[in-house]
Amino acid sequence: FVHQLADESVGMEEILVSPLRLEPESAFVLPPKLFGAGRKNSAGLDLEVATQRAALQTAFDNLTVPSVPEFDAKQAASAYATSATSYKIWSKAPVAERAALLRQSADALEHQMPRFCAILVKEAFKTWGDAVSEVREAVDFLRFYADEAERIMAPVALPGPTGETNELRLSARGVWVCISPWNFPLAIFMGQVAAALATGNTVLAKPAEQTPFVALEAVRLLHSVGVPEAAVQLLHGPGETVGAALVALPGIAGVVFTGSTPVARTINRALAAKDGPIVPLIAETGGINAMLVDSTALPEQVVDAVVQSAFRSAGQRCSALRLLCVHEAIADHVIEMVQGAAKELVLGNTAEWATDVGPVIDKEAFDGIQKHIQRLHSTAKPLLAQSAPARAAANLIAPQAFELKQVSDVAQEIFGPVLHIVRWSGDPQAVIEQINALGYGLTLGIQTRIDSRAHALAAAAHIGNVYINRNIIGAVVGVQPFGGEGLSGTGPKAGGPHYLYRFCAEQTLTVNT
Ligand code: GLU
Repeated sequence: FVHQLADESVGMEEILVSPLRLEPESAFVLPPKLFGAGRKNSAGLDLEVATQRAALQTAFDNLTVPSVPEFDAKQAASAYATSATSYKIWSKAPVAERAALLRQSADALEHQMPRFCAILVKEAFKTWGDAVSEVREAVDFLRFYADEAERIMAPVALPGPTGETNELRLSARGVWVCISPWNFPLAIFMGQVAAALATGNTVLAKPAEQTPFVALEAVRLLHSVGVPEAAVQLLHGPGETVGAALVALPGIAGVVFTGSTPVARTINRALAAKDGPIVPLIAETGGINAMLVDSTALPEQVVDAVVQSAFRSAGQRCSALRLLCVHEAIADHVIEMVQGAAKELVLGNTAEWATDVGPVIDKEAFDGIQKHIQRLHSTAKPLLAQSAPARAAANLIAPQAFELKQVSDVAQEIFGPVLHIVRWSGDPQAVIEQINALGYGLTLGIQTRIDSRAHALAAAAHIGNVYINRNIIGAVVGVQPFGGEGLSGTGPKAGGPHYLYRFCAEQTLTVNT
């Protein structure tokens, strides 16, 4: 690749040689089962080993997803009163007791893995690989927040010059409203609820309208191990009525929300308009996530990362890749390889084991993405304009890629398998500035073999999760705290060491001894 360095002002000694992640035979065209059995998923889980297909299939065959009764928004005040009463007892329980119940919930969830995977496949159209990863993530959240609550809620002595004893103690804040999305209807739902419960808060949980059953089953599981029914209540219904009524409740201690930036704004406005205490909002929203590829990058590694990041989960992750910025010296080569790899993806019904890319969540999402694709056909150059196979699952969109002239042409987040590609040359720092200027700050990929450059670009990016020489999805609880800045959210990062503090009040206790 020495010739590719012609335009780079670096010497060979600065080149970081990254290990190739792909098998040699998949250098140009990826194997058909890109996300399926036999390959490691992003959390390092080998599906063949960790799960038994037969158990999953049986759970799937035996499952009917019932409709979940909607909560009457007029009952919000009484649900709150129940929660507030429960809070008085739950918050006083020793943190070790609450943590133990969350660990038992994790064990129970692991035990019921096939059933929960089957629900995710049937209700949320997850592929089997994504379903397994998601149940694991929910288990991880339960255990991680149990450990974290015990760690941070132990009183901390602050010895110092005052001649008094000083101590910092954390306690719960009250009743939290948890509003979660359909794209991780178990993991994010459970993560929010577990964080609030672990720290001694009680919860009014409103799941996404599209996926109430998995949330109902999650709440039943928590109750089954001994979490009081009043401490976590499921209130399913539309955001406009149920969500709005919960956010408007006078006494709530906080709102934790994952979803779109406009809805986060609506919630923020509603909270700001209330009298009484300032109510904190933890919002994790979307991103126009980019990957910057320079001319030294390994094309095989790039194409694997791009295809996984842009098209896995049908692009319905807030971490997903929307904008590939590839150096002009290798752009044609990379684009050709992405085209080849994307064509190998198996599209279809996610109940099928081989499926890599399934349908988007519903008709409304389908129509919105299609409209965006049509617009791109008249404003951009189609590079991968496939159509879904005949007799495919409803709401299936085949992966798409379009070339745009500049970074700023990508005006909005599109939550589907649509990749925008821009060529660049010159100073990569300038590209990072253009990416920063989009205003989002969730995930960023950097592909380069120049170590110093990778770190300089990461430092210049106003982005919460930066991934060097790999894909940009699938943050692992505890080791890859997840969350962004700017239009992508408020922080703190889910699955990180600072998350639980936001759910706590802090008291400094000074005793004149
Ligand atoms: N944590 C997920 C990931 O790293 C994304 C969560 C989301 O889409 O909201 O891929």
